[in-house]
Amino acid sequence: MTATPQTVRARIFYTPGEALADGELRLAKVRDDLVRVRLRASGVCGSDLHVADGDWTVQGPLVLGHEGSGIVEDVGPGVRDVRPGDRVVLSWFAPCRRCRNCAGGRVWLCQNTRSLENTLPDGTTSFVSSAGTPVPAFLGLGTFSEATVVPESAAVKIPDEVPFSVAALIGCAVTTGVGAVVNTAQVRPGDSAVVVGCGGVGQAILLGLGLVGADPIVAVDLSDERLALARELGAAHALRGDDSGSGDHVRSITGWGADHAFEAIGRAATIEMLPSLVRRGGQAVIVGMPAEGVAVPLDPFDLADGGKRILGCNYGSSVPSVDFPRLARLYASGRLPLDRLVGRTTTLDAVDGALDDLRRVAGLRTIIRYEDGP
Ligand SMILES: [Zn+2]
Ligand SMILES: [Zn+2]
Repeated sequence: MTATPQTVRARIFYTPGEALADGELRLAKVRDDLVRVRLRASGVCGSDLHVADGDWTVQGPLVLGHEGSGIVEDVGPGVRDVRPGDRVVLSWFAPCRRCRNCAGGRVWLCQNTRSLENTLPDGTTSFVSSAGTPVPAFLGLGTFSEATVVPESAAVKIPDEVPFSVAALIGCAVTTGVGAVVNTAQVRPGDSAVVVGCGGVGQAILLGLGLVGADPIVAVDLSDERLALARELGAAHALRGDDSGSGDHVRSITGWGADHAFEAIGRAATIEMLPSLVRRGGQAVIVGMPAEGVAVPLDPFDLADGGKRILGCNYGSSVPSVDFPRLARLYASGRLPLDRLVGRTTTLDAVDGALDDLRRVAGLRTIIRYEDGP
C-alpha cells in the first residue's frame, strides 16, 4: 500500500463542444477491493464523443475515456483476482456480483453497478482535484489519464502476449462487437449477416462474423475507406449506405433478407431500416448507442407478420471476467486478428484530435499510448 497520494495528468470534460482541459488530479486511495492501474493504452470511442459533443447529458468535470488497458500498480487488502504487475483490460461496467442479474450470469445487466453514475461502488470518485473537489471518471474508468483507480471487478487479467493497444480495444469495441455476434445474436456458421456502420464496433462485428463462419457477410457504410477495410475484414459485399438501392441489394444478396442485421452507429435512420434488411424470422440487433431522446418509427405489422425480432445489445451481452480473457486468447492464437482494428497512435495531449478522427467517420480506431512499447 502506498501512503502518499498519487497525482496524475488527465484530460477533463467540462462543457459540451469545448476542448477537454488538461488537469492534475489526485487519485483515490487504494482501499478495500480497489485497484490502481497505470494506463498504457486507451481507445477513443463514440461514447466519449457523445459526452464531448453533448449528445448525452453529463455534468462536468469528468475524466473521459473508458476503453483502456494497463498494468496493476497497487491493490487494496480485499483484492483477490489481480496483483501488482498484472496486465489488465478495464471493464466499463463493474458488476456488483450479487444482484439477481449478476447471480444469474447476466452481469452486463447488473442493477447495482455505479459505473453508469461515473463513480466507484461506494459513490466516491476515482479522482479528486487539487482543491479537494471530487472528479468523476467516465463509466467508472476515466482512461484519459495516466492512471486510475477502479473496483477489482473492472480490472480483468489477460495474457502478457496481448499488446496494450489490442487489449484496450477489448475493453469496449471488440467485446461489444464480437459479443453482439456470439452472445447477443448467437450467429451460427452459414447464417447471413449485414453490418450497418463499419466504425470500431462494426469492424469488430465483422471479425466476430468471420470467427463464427457467417456467410455471406454484407457491410454498409458511407465511407469508401471503411468499406474497403470491411472487405479486408471478411465482408464479401460492401455497399454505400447512401445508395437508394442498398436495401434491395442486401435482400438480393442474402436471398430473402439477412438472418441477422447489426446496427453499429446509433442513428435513427439506420435503426429504422434495420428490420427491413432481415428475412422473415430474422433478427435485428441494435448495438450502436444513440443520442438521448432519439425515437424510431417501426412497422409493427412487418415485425409481427414476419416473426422478426429486435434485440438490444449492451456491451456485447458479455461477462468481462470470462469474455476478456477468451477474446485475448483468440487473438493470441491467431483466430481473431484484432490488431487489424488498431489505427493511428497518439498521446494524451492530442486526445481532442482523436475525437476529431471519430467525427470524420472514416478509418480505424485512434489509440492513446502512455508509454512506448507493445
Ligand atoms: Zn466505448
Ligand atoms: Zn449486479
